Amino acid sequence: MNRALQILSVACVLLFAGCQANKKAKNLAKWPKGVTYEIFVQSFADSDGDGKGDFNGMTEKLPYLEDLGVDAVWLMPIMASPSYHKYDVTDYEAVHPDYGTMDDFKRFVAEAHKRNIKVVIDFIINHSSNQHKWFLEAKKSKDNPYRGFYEWKTLKQIKEEGSMTKEAHADSGNIYQWYDSKEDGVDEYYYGYFGSQMPDINYDNKQVKQEIFRIGQFWLKDVGVDGFRLDAAKHIYDYAPEKSHKFWVEFKEAMQQVKPDVYLVGEVWADAQTVAPYLKGLPALFNFDMGNAIADACKNQKNNGLVANYKKINDFYKSVTPDFVDATFTTNHDQERIMSVLGNDTEKAKMAGALLMTLPGSPYVYYGEEIGMRGRKPDEFIREPILWDENKQQEATWIAPKYTTHETVKPANVQAKDKGSMLNHYKMLIHKRKESNALSMGNLEEIKLENSAVVAFYRAYQDQKQMVLHNLSDKAVTVPLDNSAYQKQYMSTKEGVKVNTGEVTLPAYTSVVLEK
Ligand code: CA
Repeated sequence: MNRALQILSVACVLLFAGCQANKKAKNLAKWPKGVTYEIFVQSFADSDGDGKGDFNGMTEKLPYLEDLGVDAVWLMPIMASPSYHKYDVTDYEAVHPDYGTMDDFKRFVAEAHKRNIKVVIDFIINHSSNQHKWFLEAKKSKDNPYRGFYEWKTLKQIKEEGSMTKEAHADSGNIYQWYDSKEDGVDEYYYGYFGSQMPDINYDNKQVKQEIFRIGQFWLKDVGVDGFRLDAAKHIYDYAPEKSHKFWVEFKEAMQQVKPDVYLVGEVWADAQTVAPYLKGLPALFNFDMGNAIADACKNQKNNGLVANYKKINDFYKSVTPDFVDATFTTNHDQERIMSVLGNDTEKAKMAGALLMTLPGSPYVYYGEEIGMRGRKPDEFIREPILWDENKQQEATWIAPKYTTHETVKPANVQAKDKGSMLNHYKMLIHKRKESNALSMGNLEEIKLENSAVVAFYRAYQDQKQMVLHNLSDKAVTVPLDNSAYQKQYMSTKEGVKVNTGEVTLPAYTSVVLEK
């Protein structure tokens, strides 16, 4: 989907009810404060050699995910679909056969749960595929029982209502969202915000709404997933946003009927003013602005007021919903990979990871980010196969990769043996974050320094306070400490950090967390 025109991109996360008590005593932070790992299943781990990643492959890789320290996975669409990305569903109760069987998937969920890893799946309900049986029926005639599952209008109605205007659709490449099915023999067009292949479901129709709610309950209750990431959440009613707000409250309540602690992550990409009303029902946000700010700071080796800006964004959302949770990340499946954004500079990409894992929020890691995968648009090439080992075992081959190849990126098993690798960098950061209440749950307090190449702040939670310093530059820096009590290194990304009374010296591209 083309969302290139967005100015301020944010996605809302719904977090409901408590998270279950955490398992490992030393891991004090509880998911969703922990790290969530986003997976494009097709590119993850191929267990049967057909070239496509699958559920059994993911099950085999659970030890890798546990070792990395993630508390949850978010799987991009796994339901039946004709497209490679699967954001157009043809059967909401079936998994895609390329990925395995429903039993394979249930086994993955059970094995993930054994390792205390939650499973969140994409649930694409704004639209279906135009190959879904509902739509195949609906387009046959005006009198078909499924007609009302979708929205139909005459050209006259569309023009009168002004729903063909470009301005109303700033986040889609489609100017005209109405299409002629050509099968019903009447002058009626159906609505498809994201194109003719993705007709929007008409939630004014109670029958389809109840059916979608029932299907959601099926995945929670019968399959056992922990929650959903809800695609295109603001498009449920494109011309009546207040109805969309209300819809999600209704959806949440229906899901809570079968799973009181259901986790719902809703994608609401828009400017802050548009998003704000959703916060009444969606108490957390994916923080796209922060991802951009982290990338800019690393690219330019300048803090650009990163901490102050973060606080500004955070305070705005807190003013709307005091208890919202901030879902942070560097880049996701709709964006060019952070490694490529930073010119394939490993030092800068490591710095981006260090910033992400020390700033507040509930961080998301896009699969392969932890081994420094590269990727640029078009979308297929930001979703290339992850590399596991030199022998290419379990490596997906459905696409000939352009950016992440064995010539450009070392596979995970090679990186695992290298202390200085991107993989061990991420692993250390994730575990250190989990083991620190201040880093995982603490508030943020800026430390103002003259040197614009340094990002400095405190994180504090109850009686724990840590000082975080990042040297974004390619040169060693010495900065004054505003409190000499912070002498002990809780963690550092490199050796050679020197903490003296009143000052600290950081080697190039180094992050350190100090405590009393
Ligand atoms: Ca396979």
